[in-house]
Amino acid sequence: MKNKLLIFCFLAGILLAAAGCVTVTNPATHQDEVILVGESEEVEIGREVAIEVEKKYQVCRDPGLNDWVKEIGQRLTAVCERKNLKFEFKVLEREDVNAFALPGGFIYVNKGLLAMVEDNSELAGVLGHEIGHVTCRHGVKKLQNQMGYSLLFSILFQDDDTAQRIANTAFTLVGLGYSREDEFQADKLSVIYSHRAGYDPEGIMKFLQKLRQREKGEPSEVETFLSTHPPTSERIKKIKQEIVRLSSG
Ligand SMILES: [Zn+2]
Repeated sequence: MKNKLLIFCFLAGILLAAAGCVTVTNPATHQDEVILVGESEEVEIGREVAIEVEKKYQVCRDPGLNDWVKEIGQRLTAVCERKNLKFEFKVLEREDVNAFALPGGFIYVNKGLLAMVEDNSELAGVLGHEIGHVTCRHGVKKLQNQMGYSLLFSILFQDDDTAQRIANTAFTLVGLGYSREDEFQADKLSVIYSHRAGYDPEGIMKFLQKLRQREKGEPSEVETFLSTHPPTSERIKKIKQEIVRLSSG
C-alpha cells in the first residue's frame, strides 16, 4: 500500500512538473499556492475564451472608448505583479453594467458600465478589480477546482478538442463569477493598484456606491454584476478598511 502511494506521488510529481505547474505567491494574501497551469497555457486558455466571447458579443468599434479603457488599464498593469503579461482591454457593445477578466489578462468592459463612470478614478477602480482577478490567477484556480487533474491531463495529452473543451468550461465559469474571497481580494488590489498608479483609490468605492443606488432604481441593468459579486454594502465596507490601511501604512 505504502509503495503504491509512493509510486502515485512520484507519477503525480512528474505530471505536475511536465505540465509546468508552479507554486506562486498570491499577491493579495502573500501565501503560496499550487497552480496546475503554467503561464503560457493560462494565456492560451484565455485567448481561446476571448475568441468565444467575441463570437458571442460584439466588440465596440468606438476608438475613443477603447483608447480610454486601454490607457487607464495600461497605467494600472504597469504597477501590478504580473507586468510580463500582455494585457488586452476591450469594450463590448452591451448595455448592462458589467466587466470581467479572462485568464491570461483579457479584460472586457461593457459600454453600459462606461456610461455610469464619471471620472478616471472610477474606471481605474473597476479595471484594477479585474486586473486583480488576473494577478491572483482566480480564473485558472476556478478552472482547476472544477476540472481537477483532468485539466492537467488535457493539457499534457492534447488532442484537437482539448483547447475547445477547456475554453468552453472556462467560458461558463467566468459567467458564473468568482468566490466571495476572490472578489474581496480583487477589490483590495483595485485600491492598491489605483494608489500606485496615481489614481484616487476611492474610485472603486464611488463606483460601487452609485451601483447601490442603481440597485434600488433599475435593478435589471445591474443584475448580472450583482449576481456574480458579494453584496455591494459589504464590499464598500472592506474597501474603506483597505483605504484606511493604505493611508496609515
Ligand atoms: Zn470580480
